[in-house]
Amino acid sequence: MKLQLRVSGEHHEVLKAHLLPSDGKEAVAVALCGRFYENDSIFLMIHDLTLVPHDECYSREWDILTWPTNHITHYFERINKSDLAILKIHSHPGGYDKFSNTDDISDAEFFDSVFGWSINDKPHASAVMLPDGEIFGRFFFHDLHSEPITKVCVAGDTILHYTKGKNFTFDDFAKRTIQAFGEKTYQCLKELTVGVVGCSGTGSPTIEQLVRLGVGKIILIDPDTVELKNLNRILNTTVEDAQNSKPKVEVIANSIKKFGLNTIVETFQTNLYDSIYALKALVKCDVIFGCMDSVDGRHLLNQLCSFYLIPYFDLGVKLEADGTGGINKICASVHYLQPRKSSLITRGVYTTDDLKASSQFRKNPSEYENLKQNAYIKNVNVNSPAVISVNMQIASHAINELLNRIHPFKADSPDSYAASTIDITEAYIVNSNENDFHIDEYLKKKSGKGDVLPFIEIAELSI
Ligand SMILES: [Zn+2]
Repeated sequence: MKLQLRVSGEHHEVLKAHLLPSDGKEAVAVALCGRFYENDSIFLMIHDLTLVPHDECYSREWDILTWPTNHITHYFERINKSDLAILKIHSHPGGYDKFSNTDDISDAEFFDSVFGWSINDKPHASAVMLPDGEIFGRFFFHDLHSEPITKVCVAGDTILHYTKGKNFTFDDFAKRTIQAFGEKTYQCLKELTVGVVGCSGTGSPTIEQLVRLGVGKIILIDPDTVELKNLNRILNTTVEDAQNSKPKVEVIANSIKKFGLNTIVETFQTNLYDSIYALKALVKCDVIFGCMDSVDGRHLLNQLCSFYLIPYFDLGVKLEADGTGGINKICASVHYLQPRKSSLITRGVYTTDDLKASSQFRKNPSEYENLKQNAYIKNVNVNSPAVISVNMQIASHAINELLNRIHPFKADSPDSYAASTIDITEAYIVNSNENDFHIDEYLKKKSGKGDVLPFIEIAELSI
């Protein structure tokens, strides 16, 4: 059973500041969490946070804390009406990395009361923050028994994963990677589940690198079959695959199995909008790469990653050719999106008009052609020129960015690389800071909401 707690980078910083004050005494906060609930996986995502003021606690010492619950009565009312969970999180400033006997007694009492308010029997959680910001915790079930949280994930400028009791195992093929990034980073890669949506030009070299870096599990999503025109850029595809119209995800998955690096691969030959199973598989990912052209697909991923607090890398290539061998411009970009911050929309990657056109093109191509001819709708790029060297460069840039978020190695702090645009014709790279962009206030309100109907509040997905 996977029991996960997910926290946005912003909330993690707020918690650190509140729970680890300079007086060295314990402190407490309570969060309202969205849920992802399946048979084998239960995730809680912090949606809203209430800090219990230090000076209102009845007693605060370095090893003990009693506090009033009047600040969180509105949370009790919320869980009485909707499928949300309560997380209680306090600190152990002395670094004690277990729940104490006092914790056991106070948690039993607290969660007994929480279940009294709950609309359903689904679990809630208690967690502890240690002096370095690490979080561990446990889920409380309806009969008040508890089970440890298997992984705590923080999706911020850096991607932090806290797992307890895992032993490091060495893989010979990873020796050179470990020499560069160390055992801890390799272990983190090995425990990652990464979703890649779009397995063509930028997707295929992204997948290849993830596998060879040692990522444990990969989810591949792409609706298309291999065609001859793809062979100029999709790794490991052959003329035979094109002649047999083999699904891209199947060809790539087979080649990964042949590598023999024990990567677990799950595939979905589908458009994102057509399969709730593919979307739910993405929810279970620790990181998602969007490697597709369609604006509505990128939009969906940005929204999904906000609801479920998942770090998201968006890759885009713009290659303007005149069709007779002349190149006007080659430009490629990587966007790193984290919950509660900016989005592809607020960064100006596309507009709501682009989104409308893209969605019309997908849902009703003939009507789209009509509207386009009458100039009522914007042009959607299909069958754009594509070249392997450009795709590989931007895929490598994205993977280096992932590594930099897990194990910062670049000169400036990770927030300085929220977006990178590589202009290959003019030979320069522009990096933008997360603070250069406006926060997407709409998505911020949705962050960590988890399971809702319709799925991520997109009516079309109410399958
Ligand atoms: Zn404690």
